[in-house]
Amino acid sequence: MSLTPQSILKKTFGYDTFRPLQREVIENVLNKRDTLAVMPTGGGKSLCYQIPALLFDGLTVVVSPLIALMKDQVEQMHAAGVPALFLNSTLSPEAYQDNMQSVRQGQTRLLYLAPETLLTARIFDLLASVRVDCFTIDEAHCISEWGHDFRPEYRQLVDVRRRFPGAVCLALTATATPRVRIDIKSSLGFSASNEFVASFNRDNLYIEVMPKSDALIQTVKFLERFKEQSGIIYCFSRKQVDELAEYLTRKGYSVRPYHAGLEDDQRRLNQEAFIRDDVQIIVATIAFGMGINKPNVRFVIHYDLPKSVENYYQEIGRAGRDGLPAHCLLLYSYGDAAKLKYFINQKADGERRVSNQHLDAMVSYAEDEVNCRRKPLLTYFGEPYTLENCNNCDNCNAEAPILEDITIPAQKFLSCVRRTGERFGAGHVVDVLLGSKNEKVLKNEHDKLSTYGIGKELAQKQWMHLSRQLAQLGYLKQDGEFHTLSLTPAALEALRNRTKILGQLQEVEERAPKKANQAELEYNHALFAILRSKRKELADKEAVPPYVVFSDRTLVEMAAYMPQTNKELLNINGVGQVKALRYGKTFLTLILDYCKKHQIEQKHLPALAGKRNPGVQKEARPEVGNRSILVGEAYNAGESIKSLVERYAVTEATILDHLLKFSTSGNALRNDDQMLALTSVSPLIQKTVFGAFDHLGTGFLKPVFDQLNGTVNYTELRILRLIYLSRSE
Ligand code: ADP
Ligand code: ZN
Repeated sequence: MSLTPQSILKKTFGYDTFRPLQREVIENVLNKRDTLAVMPTGGGKSLCYQIPALLFDGLTVVVSPLIALMKDQVEQMHAAGVPALFLNSTLSPEAYQDNMQSVRQGQTRLLYLAPETLLTARIFDLLASVRVDCFTIDEAHCISEWGHDFRPEYRQLVDVRRRFPGAVCLALTATATPRVRIDIKSSLGFSASNEFVASFNRDNLYIEVMPKSDALIQTVKFLERFKEQSGIIYCFSRKQVDELAEYLTRKGYSVRPYHAGLEDDQRRLNQEAFIRDDVQIIVATIAFGMGINKPNVRFVIHYDLPKSVENYYQEIGRAGRDGLPAHCLLLYSYGDAAKLKYFINQKADGERRVSNQHLDAMVSYAEDEVNCRRKPLLTYFGEPYTLENCNNCDNCNAEAPILEDITIPAQKFLSCVRRTGERFGAGHVVDVLLGSKNEKVLKNEHDKLSTYGIGKELAQKQWMHLSRQLAQLGYLKQDGEFHTLSLTPAALEALRNRTKILGQLQEVEERAPKKANQAELEYNHALFAILRSKRKELADKEAVPPYVVFSDRTLVEMAAYMPQTNKELLNINGVGQVKALRYGKTFLTLILDYCKKHQIEQKHLPALAGKRNPGVQKEARPEVGNRSILVGEAYNAGESIKSLVERYAVTEATILDHLLKFSTSGNALRNDDQMLALTSVSPLIQKTVFGAFDHLGTGFLKPVFDQLNGTVNYTELRILRLIYLSRSE
């Protein structure tokens, strides 16, 4: 059988389906059309050149600035049976010569090079002596001065590729800003049509922001849920990294620090230990992550606030590259923002302005308690995100907030801001309300104010939460480096008219991801542990990271389907022919032994032949849409919402979500009074809500919520939207 991209995907890499745009990019490259492919981290960029490399007669050259990654890539290629090599300054002169020789003799398909290596005369000569079919430029944003990582050597790549007119050029990057994209294409002389931009939505990442109260306790509590799983904790400063790493070590966690202040060797060792699963957690400054490719990072914690949305996105992007669920937690406090502001304000004018803009965007992201987290993230990268509920972030998973009357405490807070002269941050205002005798209060004689000590009915945390809500509702403005609070005209009016203000006094501490959304395969955890320890043993013997042997996902599938024959093993995600040959017997023996010992018969296992992908990538999820259609059709056929809830064993809100999806994908929804029974909103207010839908549309609920001043909560709005939609058909 002749080789095709699809057959190589299966035979060499052991995967069943392409990730979004991989097929298109590969075909374009095979047709020798220059191509720019923009995909998020974990999107699967490597296969875009690795598969063509196996189909071209000549050599594929991969230029990458990340020398540390080359060895890793080459090891992974070898494990899959692909002849690949690298040339860079880490090689001994002998190894360098050997590799040159292999290339000259046509024994390799893929050659990884650092840009400065490519520019040397001897590499020129080497490449001129062989046939080069493809130049891949990894991290292609380095060519642009607008990118965050400009490298002058990259500019010269243009000349290099001119010398090899027969080779197609593939540029790869995870930086999606339009400016950088345009720059890459024009620098390399590409035509516009050969650009592929994948969605930056990483839907396997659960995204969460939590107000930072006691960061140490919060972190430990979080880690308890991730026993033995790999993760990264990002801190702002080296000192913080060292302190946290030490604290967690004392608590018995397997942790190493990583920052620029460590000796090179130590840093490398710590990174290596993490990659090889010898160490569970890395506590790092943002310096960590560029050079690693570890696919099974299960969580990323931001212990401090990142400087920009772009940084934040890059950092959380290091989680869940294998497509399995991963959790991203940001601990947010005003204090951190103020600290960053302080540093920014030391900078020169222009830079200061830009940095402040970045930080402000980050702060408003972190403070948003309503909108889907994915919306601002993707909008930032110029990608519209239209889904109302992603089901995989804290805001989307939150129960609709039950709003209570907070008029009295709000009035107290606003008055206290006013009495203290609109010159202080929230922390001080709260101190005054609570009757604190701290130095700042006494020095300013704020213990003499009428608002001193009038807020003892609430805890400090509740007042801080209230302050954030008042800012979000537009009553308070925050300025400057110290986040000084002042009253807006709306606040003055509210105080004067005693306007009723709705909000929440209790902060929602933790919102775990809904189980249903994890879409994780049920697997045997004991068997998984056995397979994992064998994997570690094999990897150590070969001196490679465990994921080079098999990914977590592969082991999860083995522990779920328990393949018994080589043929069945080849059906497992990530098992190609070479790996099956090399490791198959070892793993099959373990599985067979386990089944025998525990008397597990295969007929009780999930079917392997038509196995679903356990991951959470898009292509693996058609059943989500099907469910909405089933629910919608059953509803239209007369089934009651109550019966649907029971039949599918889900909440009423989920059924309503299905009905909404059904309706917004163009299906008429039966107009039925049973939905009216679900709402407790009076007919008069219903009319107002419908009027708002007339004006504002039904795509987003927030504008409607805002127009009604928050008097109708989101649960009600969701029901009313369905009624509205069923009537308008
Ligand atoms: P990127 O370079 O875009 O960050 P990688 O090329 O490193 O992403 O791929 C991330 C992970 O996804 C790797 O472990 C890779 O083997 C895996 N992968 C890539 N393509 C597929 C696919 N089509 N099916 C399953 N896994 C894939
Ligand atoms: Zn969401």
